[in-house]
Amino acid sequence: MDSSKSRGALQDSTSENNNNNNDGDEEKDELCPGFQDVDAFVKYGLGAVLSATKASGALPQVGDEYDFYRSFPGFQEFCQSQGDQLLHCMSQIMQYHGCRSLMRDRNKLTGLEERFDLVVDSNDAILERAGILLDEADGVNRSQQPVMPAGFQPPKIVVSSWNRKSSGSGSRAETFRLLHAKNIARPQLKFREKVDNSNTPFIPKIFIKPNAVKPLPSCKTYRPEDLDVPAALADFIHQQRTQKPVEDMFAHPYQYELDHLTTPESLLSKPLSNLFSTNCSFIDSLEDLVALNEKLCSLSEFAVDLEHHSYRSFLGLTSLMQISTREEDFIIDTLELRSEMYILNEAFTDPSIVKVFHGADSDIEWLQRDFGLYVVNLFDTHQASRALNLARHSLDHLLKHFCTVDSDKRYQLADWRIRPLPDEMVQYARTDTHYLLYIYDCVKTQLLETNHGQPGLLQSVWNKSKDISLKKYVKPIFTEESYLELQRKQKRSLNTQQHTAFRLLFAWRNKLARQEDESTGYVLPTHMMIKISEELPREPQGIIACCNPVPPLVRQQINELHSLVQQAREMPLLKVRKEKGVSSGYITCYPEVTLFGPHDTSRVSESDLPHFSPDGEFNACTCCEPETKNDQESLSVAHMKARRIIEAFENPFRMYLPTSDVHVNENAKFDPSSKIFEISKRWKLQSIEQQQKELEAKRKAKADAKEQTKKCCTEYICCQPISFQESAKGGGKKRERVASEVGESTPKPTKKLIKSAEKPQKTEPPPQDSFTPFDYSQSDLKVFADPKSKDNTQFDPNRQAHDPKKKGQKSNSAAGNRSMSYMAGKSERGFRHNWPKR
Ligand code: AMP
Ligand code: ZN
Ligand code: MN
Repeated sequence: MDSSKSRGALQDSTSENNNNNNDGDEEKDELCPGFQDVDAFVKYGLGAVLSATKASGALPQVGDEYDFYRSFPGFQEFCQSQGDQLLHCMSQIMQYHGCRSLMRDRNKLTGLEERFDLVVDSNDAILERAGILLDEADGVNRSQQPVMPAGFQPPKIVVSSWNRKSSGSGSRAETFRLLHAKNIARPQLKFREKVDNSNTPFIPKIFIKPNAVKPLPSCKTYRPEDLDVPAALADFIHQQRTQKPVEDMFAHPYQYELDHLTTPESLLSKPLSNLFSTNCSFIDSLEDLVALNEKLCSLSEFAVDLEHHSYRSFLGLTSLMQISTREEDFIIDTLELRSEMYILNEAFTDPSIVKVFHGADSDIEWLQRDFGLYVVNLFDTHQASRALNLARHSLDHLLKHFCTVDSDKRYQLADWRIRPLPDEMVQYARTDTHYLLYIYDCVKTQLLETNHGQPGLLQSVWNKSKDISLKKYVKPIFTEESYLELQRKQKRSLNTQQHTAFRLLFAWRNKLARQEDESTGYVLPTHMMIKISEELPREPQGIIACCNPVPPLVRQQINELHSLVQQAREMPLLKVRKEKGVSSGYITCYPEVTLFGPHDTSRVSESDLPHFSPDGEFNACTCCEPETKNDQESLSVAHMKARRIIEAFENPFRMYLPTSDVHVNENAKFDPSSKIFEISKRWKLQSIEQQQKELEAKRKAKADAKEQTKKCCTEYICCQPISFQESAKGGGKKRERVASEVGESTPKPTKKLIKSAEKPQKTEPPPQDSFTPFDYSQSDLKVFADPKSKDNTQFDPNRQAHDPKKKGQKSNSAAGNRSMSYMAGKSERGFRHNWPKR
């Protein structure tokens, strides 16, 4: 394996990330200190093993001269000390790998056989892991086809409280299949811009605004100067220079347009056509996407849906977009076209084109988060179903009700990162939008009929839909108190030590999830976190025992976890005070520094601090408000005081806010032969025209009227408060579906559309209230151990982040379970070169 060569290849392909390359050089030094490459290291290692084996072979053997030599106390001592050293060494290695070690048995007279078994077990475990890592490094996994869910692989059924649907009649519960394909390359590795998992609020990604009535604030239309300071600081400096209020950055870019959107007469009357689409095209090239955009721009309506993946990503990945016109279906590979999707804004924000979604709440947020896409003129059939008071509001139900189609939601939770997409999944995805325009026609007609031809009810659906399109994506922000919300849900009473453990583990898993770009559920599922907190194991093995199967990152970071649990055990043990209505009983002080200082409110939103329990009691930090805790009146005084103090401070973390993650495809955009260039130019012209129009209008207006308009516009665009509260809610990985959709509809066997997917589901419905933990053995989780961590007992995020094994030495499309780092220092969003130079 020629790592230097392959790293060179990596550098070429990811040349956009300069800092990564520097990291790469550091890694090279760190991987095998003192060795030119892995081969040299291996050679040296084999040599050492060989000479050790030779030396041990030369030792006097039992029945040979051994007994003779043993009669010398010097020889005996030497043997004893060497033996102890070896055992110690082996124990440490075994402990590191989470195996049962010889350590505890050392002083006991355990049989040689038992020890030998331990060694064999550990060897197996270690060798297996080494094999997996070597395979990965060799690219073996990459060349394999992803294992397809149906047909190739028995269906994997994962039962948990949120993916179980019970049929209305209560006869039998159906379970979704959480499909996992093996060897999926992490799509994140191919993203041209890194995912921003930093603990900072989301900033809209938009940088070109088609169909603008009000142009983008100037701070969004070009990138901050390429200063030699951290990116967030550059933004701050830029803001200061342009004197733009910070709110500009967070506002919904189409707030003004949506506020001024009126529903035309034609959309409030009965529809004419209900044609069906027939062709289906898979779109995974820029050229096709541009062509699709042109097509969509010429239409008066189209239907949209998204598929999403959330298990192997911190924020989630929009993995597929389905679009149906009245003639055609389109499936867009949004993992492939992630950086180009924004061009669809031309159609998506055109107020003369209706975009039909079903239950768009999440879709609207995902579009903003991943592509900077916005929707102007949305019609949500879910809202229509509600207005019509239909029995159920799920898409399945609408399909059955209006199209007599039995749909099958089996693939809803499939791993949508799978490529190439199996036919069944394409068919499934297609069904989600295929009939939507027809349903749109039907519900419109019915909304008018129900209301005796009056447009009121239909108008209310348009209004509700508009509210949904005004939703803003809010990033989950971690605060000192984030853990309380989850803990409260558990309804467990924990003592001080358990409480501390829970808090520390919660922070650990959040940090690691951001860093590795994994979901918190992947890093450490909540039920395991609770088990560890409750049991507070003394030994690392005890922690491992709390987890079955053991999540790879738990195994990898077992020493760090162990030290957190130990830290918790050192807390003075207090019983929980179960106060009326206060579910967590008490709130601890935070003497030790976790992610942020205990009283550092800089990253804590107002909604999080001061903290109120559900019944409104103030849960003060006990060191701040010890006496007044039970006094209702003083509590509110304390609360007011805290609030005033918080309000008096300018939130210092604003200056660390990142800029939006905009990706400007430089080459394409400035290459006059490219279609993107055309589009960009067209948009620019439009926006210039728009601005000129505005200028003229302003000139004509009176001076005071001019003032008035200006004020009004600024208000629309700039005065969007940042909602932190929402972010806390959005923190959970399991997206709550629109309430009525959850658990109401029953997946039916497919009638015609998904014939190939028709397979009897081997569902064993568990008792309603039992919880079966996520079954890791079903998924393809590879253990990735830190290769240099024999001496690395403390978890060091930066070191780990730069672990070369995880960056994929051979290729940027490394196999599925590579770890990725997102927190690597200064160039967190290191794509400065993407900023247009000024
Ligand atoms: P849909 O709009 O039904 O096509 O769903 C879009 C995406 O939402 C799916 O790809 C899933 O990732 C996610 N999703 C849908 N329903 C659920 C659910 N009940 N639980 C968790 N995620 C869901
Ligand atoms: Zn959807
Ligand atoms: Mn869908």
